[in-house]
Amino acid sequence: MTVLNDLYAQLISNEKEIIAIRRHLHQHPELSFKEKNTARFIANQLNEMNIEVREQVGGNGLVGIIRGEKPGKTIAFRADFDALPIQEETDHEYRSKNDGVMHACGHDGHTASLLGFAKVLQANRHLLHGNIVLIHQHAEEKPPGGAKFMIEEGALENVDKVFGAHLASDIPLGVIASRPGSMMASVDHFILTLTGRGGHGAYPHETIDTIVIGSQLISHLQQIVSRRIRPIDPAVVTVGKFHAGTAFNIIAERAEIEGTVRTLNDGVRKKIEMEMRDILEGVKISDKIDYELEYIHGYPVLVNDKDEVALIKQLVEEAGDYQYVEIEPTLGAEDFAYYLQHVPGAFFNVGARNLDDPSTHFPHHHPKFNFDERALLDIGKLFIRIAHHYLIK
Ligand code: MN
Repeated sequence: MTVLNDLYAQLISNEKEIIAIRRHLHQHPELSFKEKNTARFIANQLNEMNIEVREQVGGNGLVGIIRGEKPGKTIAFRADFDALPIQEETDHEYRSKNDGVMHACGHDGHTASLLGFAKVLQANRHLLHGNIVLIHQHAEEKPPGGAKFMIEEGALENVDKVFGAHLASDIPLGVIASRPGSMMASVDHFILTLTGRGGHGAYPHETIDTIVIGSQLISHLQQIVSRRIRPIDPAVVTVGKFHAGTAFNIIAERAEIEGTVRTLNDGVRKKIEMEMRDILEGVKISDKIDYELEYIHGYPVLVNDKDEVALIKQLVEEAGDYQYVEIEPTLGAEDFAYYLQHVPGAFFNVGARNLDDPSTHFPHHHPKFNFDERALLDIGKLFIRIAHHYLIK
């Protein structure tokens, strides 16, 4: 039996345990930045495997390390473990026991898969030329996210490559999907306050009307993407909130405008912010308003390394038990992007939809979200192949 087959067989023999871990986590979800018990549970699991673990890394995050006996590269694998403020509406016997909190994105599965993988590699560390770093990340769902803080506290120290997997209920079981280069968007959030001069609706000449000025400004902001960004560069400027006014015959002194900016390219991201600031300076002069702009930079563009994606594709094709598909980029976001700003690597989606089971067809973040648990081994198998490629001769 080849080493790879042997590692596979060991992973498969742990399938029941991996599913049990997933179900335990599913029953006990915790919100982003509040995952105390989940972190303790993961620490206990790693301790039981005799894996060295650093806790409270950048918050509730944990970093485990499996040290090979021989020198070599250090390869990191990341799984997130936070849940969402959603009331679960499934009727599994393992549904959430925490009211209003649910693992509705599959992070319970990511964590179970990484622990299952860790157990196999820890038992075979004598084979490793190099080390494996296990990044158990808190707070992916809520900006500013956990990744940034974990990196600041050394999660990527000495790491040569980093990989992350996400279960996907919109992709059939057995399919691994990724793409080289930009795969997911940068997400910024802006909060704009306009201050004019309020007054009587009958005497507009004595006022500075923030509703009229704000409406024009919003149209103007829509021209950034349509007139100032190259049409082949995807970008979104969405105004999701526009609040002003108190009565039908009063001119509003203040208006609050809030929205999001998404791009697939860092240059475009910077340009949109700059254009927005220029437009505001212009409106300030021409319309005599004051403004305050709070521009919050969220997750950056997620940029996969092309060589690491080529490797994923090659490993999937060699495995023969699943299929690689190159996907279009999306304007959704992931804080895995931060790891890729520091270390080359790849993020990929793992199909978790069972075509014959409609309960696995709900979108992520839906109260009935569910996935086919066979996908858990698919993550573990691909992690094993990556570790085997880099660390086992
Ligand atoms: Mn997610």
